[in-house]
Amino acid sequence: MNKNTFLDHAAPGIANLKPYLPGKPISELERELGITDSVKLASNENPLGCSEKARTAIQKELSEVARYPDGGGFALRAALAARHDLDPLRITLGNGSNDVLDMIARVFLSPGRESLFSQHAFAVYPISSQAVGATLKMAPAFEYGHDLQAMAGMVGEHTSVVWIANPNNPTGTWLKGGELEAFIADLPPNVIVVVDEAYTEYVDEPDYPDASRWLDKYPNLIVTRTFSKVYGLASLRVGYGLSHPDVADLLNRVRQPFNVNSMALVAAEAALQDQDFVRHSVEANRQGMATLTEGFGKMGLDFIPSVGNFISVDVGRPVEEVDRALLHKGCIGRPIANYGLPKHLRVTVGLEQENERFLQALSEVLG
Ligand SMILES: *Cc1c(COP(=O)(O)O)cnc(C)c1O
Repeated sequence: MNKNTFLDHAAPGIANLKPYLPGKPISELERELGITDSVKLASNENPLGCSEKARTAIQKELSEVARYPDGGGFALRAALAARHDLDPLRITLGNGSNDVLDMIARVFLSPGRESLFSQHAFAVYPISSQAVGATLKMAPAFEYGHDLQAMAGMVGEHTSVVWIANPNNPTGTWLKGGELEAFIADLPPNVIVVVDEAYTEYVDEPDYPDASRWLDKYPNLIVTRTFSKVYGLASLRVGYGLSHPDVADLLNRVRQPFNVNSMALVAAEAALQDQDFVRHSVEANRQGMATLTEGFGKMGLDFIPSVGNFISVDVGRPVEEVDRALLHKGCIGRPIANYGLPKHLRVTVGLEQENERFLQALSEVLG
């Protein structure tokens, strides 16, 4: 087209932005195949659902649905402040933690500024960064995980934000406290470092850090957490950032006034009070992970060892093919070719019968 069009007015970065690819919804696959018993292991959701306490809180809140939610999220922030032993002024609530990641990009990135992340890292970092016109810098991975030395070497005078997922999605790799803190300590103090801890509750490793413990030492640190994974509240959309109060103040300037709805606020607050549910979910995940890795082993498939509630397996051929064949058997996994892993399928740890059905389907597909 040589005429001037509104397309020319799309903000820099938006015109060639590739949107986030979500997992296929169960309803869509079942409509297409005319089946009702599909298994979705595509989006790292909690197969056990959510805490009964969260459900009860949502039901009670239903009568208030005509009212706007508490835009400041006072009660949830107070509960989170108590849980993390931090001042509520350090907490920024998000419509999912993706919302917080997006606020970080809007506040700290702009054309001419650089956003640094790792190869195979969570897709939202480059998407949110490109949307605000920042320059993307991707550090090469080391054994599928973050190579902190390579990343440190790419920080320069134009760098504004460095993103670290610990553990990372979709690889399930993780960083030890010592190496991660040394990396943060060496960063120029004007560079924001985001440590995304979406899967933190699942990690059972002695050297795995809680980066929120370092907030007093590093005012340029932002830690993000979510209720979408182990807490089982993915559809309600609620997550949060922990940071220096001045950083939280900046984030809150771009936050939509009612970004977290009232069901999400009360459900998250109740879910926090049910740590038994969290422990139960983590234990079920440990068992399911063992089932999956054993099954992959029996099929002779390599996989990336993961500390999350998902695992990426090398299917030894173009993953789209395998994904299509699995879908025909009613099994939804997540091909991750778009993460630079063209032969890997990410599989969320499901219920025991789901894991077994998925393994069976995979072995049939791979013949
Ligand atoms: C799932 C996930 C999130 C959380 O997304 P929400 O917006 O909170 O649902 C954040 N970071 C990573 C790495 C994830 O995998």
